[in-house]
Amino acid sequence: MKDPKGYILSFDQGTTSSRAIVFDRSGLIVGSAQRDFPQYYPEPGWVEHDAEEIWECQLAVARDAIANAGVEATEIVSIGITNQRETVVLWDRDSGKPVYRAIVWQCRRSTAICEELIASGLEEEFRVRTGLRLDPYFSGTKLTWLFRENMALRALAENGELMFGTVDSWLLWKLTGRHVTDVTNASRTLMFNIHELKWDPLLLSFLGVPASVLPEVLSSSDDFGVTKAHLFGREIPVNGVAGDQQAALFGHSCFKAGMAKNTYGTGCFCLLNTGDVPVRSNNNLLTTVAWKIGDRVTYALEGSVFIAGAVIQWLRDELKLIESAPESEIVARSVPDTNGVVIVPAFVGLGTPYWDPDARGAILGLSRGANRAHIVRAALESIALQSEDLLEAMSGDYGKPVETLKADGGATANSFLMQFQADISGVPVVLPEIAEITALGAAYLAGLRCGYWSSPEDIERNWQLKSRFEPDMNDKTRKRLLSRWHRAVSATREFKE
Ligand code: ADP
Repeated sequence: MKDPKGYILSFDQGTTSSRAIVFDRSGLIVGSAQRDFPQYYPEPGWVEHDAEEIWECQLAVARDAIANAGVEATEIVSIGITNQRETVVLWDRDSGKPVYRAIVWQCRRSTAICEELIASGLEEEFRVRTGLRLDPYFSGTKLTWLFRENMALRALAENGELMFGTVDSWLLWKLTGRHVTDVTNASRTLMFNIHELKWDPLLLSFLGVPASVLPEVLSSSDDFGVTKAHLFGREIPVNGVAGDQQAALFGHSCFKAGMAKNTYGTGCFCLLNTGDVPVRSNNNLLTTVAWKIGDRVTYALEGSVFIAGAVIQWLRDELKLIESAPESEIVARSVPDTNGVVIVPAFVGLGTPYWDPDARGAILGLSRGANRAHIVRAALESIALQSEDLLEAMSGDYGKPVETLKADGGATANSFLMQFQADISGVPVVLPEIAEITALGAAYLAGLRCGYWSSPEDIERNWQLKSRFEPDMNDKTRKRLLSRWHRAVSATREFKE
């Protein structure tokens, strides 16, 4: 039955695909569409997108999602946007055309610039103001690179002829003609002061970025403009914007301080709501803006595991130990333990709390009886063990343990993994009924602003439990497994070319 109050359309603009989902008031999916778009790798370690291709792909899936939902554009009351974070788009103010390929968050081209800023003793200055590390991952040094490499672009920027934006900002420009972004996306750029909630002139001067290129920063639940009428046949307001991980935290209804979520995809992204306090990390976590609604800002601690579900792809594609990801669960359950085998999947270095880019993976503890099932089980355990390191770092910084972990992402389909996470972390792990939690978060932010949902409590009522995993491991075993894991990590980090 059609909802007389209409629907919310959510854009989920990811790194490899664009998705659009139409949600109803219960937070249920009424229709959706998804399309991949091209990736460009012009040099080793470089990753680019074509911003026009992102836009065309996003617009197409938005129209498809409305059609698949069987609703009219007139029934869409608001649009929410969530997006791949940190990716840099630079476009011409007059023509609206991108002046360079989008430089993707994964791109390492500004490594030398980061090293230079660190050598100048500026890391602490950036950390205090932005909550981030001086790593090529974040937007700022990607812009520095562009303005250093291309003097013509630099001149245009200094003349006020260019606009910079993360992907949300680019989509908002195309949709509404406004040059705006939200605080969560701004907080990933290395240029935004997360305490004052303003672009930081000192950091801009260190990075060599003219302030004229920057978008206006709005709250995450705000009036971002209305879509140009020709796009959907009518003007639709855009009322919610947040980076993908922050949107997922919101989509899980982690509204209160102390609530955390972990997304188990290719890698893991764990965020802990720390309330109105930007907690400084002593454990290599990032401090970031979770969202701003009205005048109230909420902060989060964030950590990431680089290789999570990817270790299962590796078992399947490289070692050929399994034929599919779901098979990993059956194989892991065929043995009572890993028989002493530990896998440290540091294929691209180790993330939080180690931040060791030079570490490489290892399989340790092999004995004559070690078999395929032990290796598969150890690989799954490594996902949870790395996540436990994140949770431990978070509770250390926050001063309190995480009480419940809300989980989403493709690898949550693996119940062995979810149970092992609950066991090794000593914390219940819960899965929501709705899988598209990131898109839902953006929809909630939009719907809150336009009155579709009246309050966070109204939204919380939508949260439906799919499954819950209670910790069920004795403390002695837990400590033994953790100690073995940490010794394996140390040994792995010791071994470097
Ligand atoms: P991303 O958004 O990063 O592309 P997804 O959330 O789509 O990731 O999850 C895909 C990842 O989850 C893959 O790395 C895959 O190996 C892993 N995965 C999917 N199903 C399972 C499963 N049943 N057991 C373990 N890992 C799984």
